[in-house]
Amino acid sequence: MNTRDATLAKVRDLSHFVGGKHVKGESGRFGDVFNPTSGALAARVPLASTAEAERAIANARQAFGGWSETSPVTRARVMFRYKELIERHMDELGLLIASEHGKVLSDAKGSIQRGLEVVEFACGIPHLMKGEYSDNITAGMDLYSIRQPLGVCAGITPFNFPAMVPMWMFPMAIACGNTFILKPSEKDPSCPLRLAELMLEAGAPPGVLNVVNGDKEAVDTLLTDPRVAAVSFVGSTPIAKYVFATGSVNGKRVQALGGAKNHMVVMPDADIDQAVDGLIGAGYGSAGERCMAISVAVPVGEETANRLVEKLIPKIESLRIGPYTDDKADMGPVVTKDAQNRIKGLISRGVEEGAKLLVGGGAPAQLPKGFYVEPTLFADVDPGSTLAQEEIFGPVLCVIPFDDDDDAVRIANDTIYGLSGAVHSASVERALGVARRIRSGTLSVNGDYEQTPAGTLEIQLASPTLFDKLNITGEAALAGAEIPLPHELAQA
Ligand code: NAD
Repeated sequence: MNTRDATLAKVRDLSHFVGGKHVKGESGRFGDVFNPTSGALAARVPLASTAEAERAIANARQAFGGWSETSPVTRARVMFRYKELIERHMDELGLLIASEHGKVLSDAKGSIQRGLEVVEFACGIPHLMKGEYSDNITAGMDLYSIRQPLGVCAGITPFNFPAMVPMWMFPMAIACGNTFILKPSEKDPSCPLRLAELMLEAGAPPGVLNVVNGDKEAVDTLLTDPRVAAVSFVGSTPIAKYVFATGSVNGKRVQALGGAKNHMVVMPDADIDQAVDGLIGAGYGSAGERCMAISVAVPVGEETANRLVEKLIPKIESLRIGPYTDDKADMGPVVTKDAQNRIKGLISRGVEEGAKLLVGGGAPAQLPKGFYVEPTLFADVDPGSTLAQEEIFGPVLCVIPFDDDDDAVRIANDTIYGLSGAVHSASVERALGVARRIRSGTLSVNGDYEQTPAGTLEIQLASPTLFDKLNITGEAALAGAEIPLPHELAQA
């Protein structure tokens, strides 16, 4: 037995979760799941074949029949129980996230709490599913509309929030009466699998929430199979574009959220301590592996830049890096060795391109085994450089000083992304004046970042109602309220 075979013999084999049961992978293909704090291989996740993904779709399709006919009140009761179960299992779920993603436990549980807020919203589904009624739209005719579930919906999610991002999607879809197939990131699939078990325990029938683990092959099946009605994606921009294009051409409603590069503009009159606290949380929390991470600070004027950097340095140096088992740790490792090497590569590139490295830049010597990156600070970063333009997705903050408000707005808008950001000033009027000119989905004033998926649509939402359809009855239906079938779309 060689070393790899000996290691594999000791690691857990994960499964898919289909039709209310754990199902062993049959494709013979696996992905490696690591514990990023030690660098050790922790589990193998099966990567589904097309046939396996199709079986999950068939299961979800079958479950749709009964589930779509339950009353919204029945579905709300499942959501209430689900909320209780998640709360009861918070520690266990937090540990599953921390041990595969690497973030510290407070971050892991905080992210579950954000997902739980969507479950709480879904508890109100009887009210949210109400239709509308218009009296006398024309002589002798009234019109009413009802909301109906679509069918099988799919979610494809990234590694950085293995509970929160799936929970942006499936609670609402399921509460609307749809069934759901989650294709989580292959890097940290254990928490999503547990979330599906808990949904069954909450009372959702088998097949209502399924988890298909996999890579491109599983994703492509979900994007092309005509039995899937809607797809929600969160991940990097190139894959978001691919998912949006492929899903749309195959007749699905698609929502695809991509990557980010977020700026914080700091005005000369800002409360610098408040801005620094915001930057520490938004720049280094979750080791920078957040779409809403602020990776560029834009202080207005040299004096503001100096004061900001002076206060940032000791705070960054005092951040405690460590595993999730250390409850005093502020920041854990990044998710994989590849991610660690990619971030280190970007740091070296920054130095080569002339940015001034003030703090960090390497891996902490006291933690040689895990995938750690020191919290890093760069000053004098050129706005056109790689550091200023690329999504780093690691604990690296860059400072780009600028002369006036107009320059700051120009820098903040000089990105292909435009997801989030912040403006700090003692004058709310001045801050709002700048904020209005920054083209990003969400923007906070005197805060750090807004953790809401709502305004983050860098790629257009295909439909205002992703998981239900507004079915207009009566004559208006003739005006084409129905969604085109895939073959009709292909012919168009
Ligand atoms: P990723 O794009 O590599 O993967 C996302 C999902 O797509 C995973 O489930 C993965 O298995 C799948 N996938 C990967 N390659 C594929 C391919 N070629 N074909 C089909 N499917 C494929 O993203 P990631 O590295 O897991 O996550 C980090 C990215 O997610 C960052 O860019 C971050 O900004 C972004 N993100 C965005 C938001 C937001 O709200 N906009 C939120 C969280 C994360």
